[in-house]
Amino acid sequence: MNQLLGAHTSIQGGVDASVDLASKLNFTAMQIFTKNNNRWFSSPLKEKEIENFKKKLKASKIKFVVSHDCYLINLCAVKEDILEKSREAMIDELNRCELLEIPYLNFHPGSHGGAGEEDGIKMIAESLNIVHQKTKNFKVKSMLEATAGQGTAIGYKFEHLRKIIDLVDEKERMSVCIDTAHIFAAGYDLRTPESYDKVITDFDSIVGLDLLKCFHMNDSKKELGSRVDRHENIGQGFIGLAGFTNIMNDKRIEGVPKILETPKEKDQLEDVENIKVLLSLCETI
Ligand code: ZN
Ligand code: MN
Ligand code: MN
Repeated sequence: MNQLLGAHTSIQGGVDASVDLASKLNFTAMQIFTKNNNRWFSSPLKEKEIENFKKKLKASKIKFVVSHDCYLINLCAVKEDILEKSREAMIDELNRCELLEIPYLNFHPGSHGGAGEEDGIKMIAESLNIVHQKTKNFKVKSMLEATAGQGTAIGYKFEHLRKIIDLVDEKERMSVCIDTAHIFAAGYDLRTPESYDKVITDFDSIVGLDLLKCFHMNDSKKELGSRVDRHENIGQGFIGLAGFTNIMNDKRIEGVPKILETPKEKDQLEDVENIKVLLSLCETI
């Protein structure tokens, strides 16, 4: 089976330009921002840009697209104005995805800023309920990303993701993304076949593999359990080739798209190299 592979791709030159670049690099899956990721709000997408994006995508070999939300959004922010702004911005992100017919919006659950994990989890679910209510009947699904647990970030335990989903009213709108660097830094060991198998088995029993719709394929600059989020090229970090060999040959997750968020220059040729490395790990029997 051909796995869907690609990388986070630049939207320099317009959202539709990402499809050109991803195609040139032979991706079959990609992730994009639909706006400047360091700003709360951007100007609306232009009609032409939306049309071009959809047209180009249809004509391409890219079978999976996910959008990553803006880094400022925190669905459990302690400050009332930031929380309000985060919810508004998330609604805008969902709107953009809906217009572009992007099926998933990936986001980090949030950072509780000292309020505690329990309160944070409740607040995230409340935010999602509000946001979903304001985007009734949207097709785009909200995709919770597992985190490294840096600072007061929620989502570094599979149980956090499960608790959030349990508190969300419209469960059919939820999906999950595993970032390999994040969960490794959070303490989930992917390096030996045995430890890797336990991670996926635990994920399945706690969250459910049916909800897993994407992998972020990143090696980790930091050690197991460090709770520090630093991405590294495949095979050059602490997860190493052994860990990615386990992932690339796991039939249970063969159909889950795999997307790189590893260091890169503007031309993204590093992504091509990292994909080559991933493919070289596939045992073809
Ligand atoms: Zn992320
Ligand atoms: Mn990620
Ligand atoms: Mn990260």
